[in-house]
Amino acid sequence: MAVRPLLMIPGPIEVSPEVIEAFSGPPPGHVSPPVIEAFGSSLEMMRDVWCADNAAQPFVVAGSGTTAMDMAAYNMIEPGEVALVINTGYFGDRAAEMLRRRGATVHEVVSELGQIPTADDIEAAITQHQPVLVWAPHVDTSTGARVDAKVVCEAANRHGVLTVFDGICATAAEEFRMADWGADVYLTASQKAIGLPPGLALVVVSERAMAKRSSLNVPPPMSLDFHQWLPIMTAYEERRPSYFATPATSLIMALSVALKQTLDHGMDATFARHQQVADAFRAAFHNMGLEMLAGPGVEANTLSAVKYPAGVDAAMTKEVAKRGAIIAGGLHPKLKTTYFRVGHMGYSAFQNDWLLRTLVAVQGGLEACGHKSDSSVLDKFQDAIA
Ligand SMILES: *Cc1c(COP(=O)(O)O)cnc(C)c1O
Repeated sequence: MAVRPLLMIPGPIEVSPEVIEAFSGPPPGHVSPPVIEAFGSSLEMMRDVWCADNAAQPFVVAGSGTTAMDMAAYNMIEPGEVALVINTGYFGDRAAEMLRRRGATVHEVVSELGQIPTADDIEAAITQHQPVLVWAPHVDTSTGARVDAKVVCEAANRHGVLTVFDGICATAAEEFRMADWGADVYLTASQKAIGLPPGLALVVVSERAMAKRSSLNVPPPMSLDFHQWLPIMTAYEERRPSYFATPATSLIMALSVALKQTLDHGMDATFARHQQVADAFRAAFHNMGLEMLAGPGVEANTLSAVKYPAGVDAAMTKEVAKRGAIIAGGLHPKLKTTYFRVGHMGYSAFQNDWLLRTLVAVQGGLEACGHKSDSSVLDKFQDAIA
């Protein structure tokens, strides 16, 4: 039997055997003691994974990352207010459209694809537009560029403006210190670096951001409303059963396992490991004669977006899959056909044999398409991830 190819795209990702064990089996009820315990402990652990303080409020709701984005859009602003989106790609476009649908007036700081706006650009846009909210994708999965979230927080906080960070391709992998940096909303989805199947929207909200929700005149739709969910989260954290809308119970069993695995590594070690693995991939791609889409110094540590070399096109990803690793093509509509993406986040980032298998498959796929590189690339990579 052929070996199952590794899923090395920027989400969904491979998950740990312990996580698979935790979500397998008959679905438990939402007020069963194991679910109450897993839910309550997950909320507690989210504060630590997000590097948030005790006053921050975690939410776990069934949905995708886009659901988490809608929760932020509907609770943090209301019709007629001004939002500023730091738009570094596909998911910045999505955020801007969402905020418009909420009725906000949306201004954007747009950077060239693969680049990020400078601190001065951000400061100037805040001064000019006086938004109530600044929204930034932490990593834009369409370009593999990461904004400097700390710099965005500093600029926003100088002006008393709320911040939302879309961490869907970053949370639990890229350094993010919600409390120290004074961020207001940091959101993600279960199928990215957190390391679960798709299905959970995960959001942590500052005290100041909860106060913003309280001040809204136009409430969010019920299923997205922080106020609707707050008593439910409080109940589970106090280990009491509760019900508003049925949670994804099997996934919540797995969430407590995945968060515990991350905290057992420690957040500093987890951030450092993603940096190490990403550095190793970037060096390997460079040694193969390839170029990253994201500019130097702003490349994400959760995925690599890599330009096809001359003469190679999207057919290459199929050749890679034949060799045991599923990677992704381009995502941004303007550049889609010019680059490929390799995810290296979460559980996979700790599996040296999988990382090597992935690089071997990429090298073989490129060679099948006429772009040959040296086997010393693999030796160097092995040393770099060890
Ligand atoms: C994956 C992703 C999303 C969308 O998440 P879904 O779960 O597909 O709804 C949004 N933003 C970023 C940065 C992402 O990587």
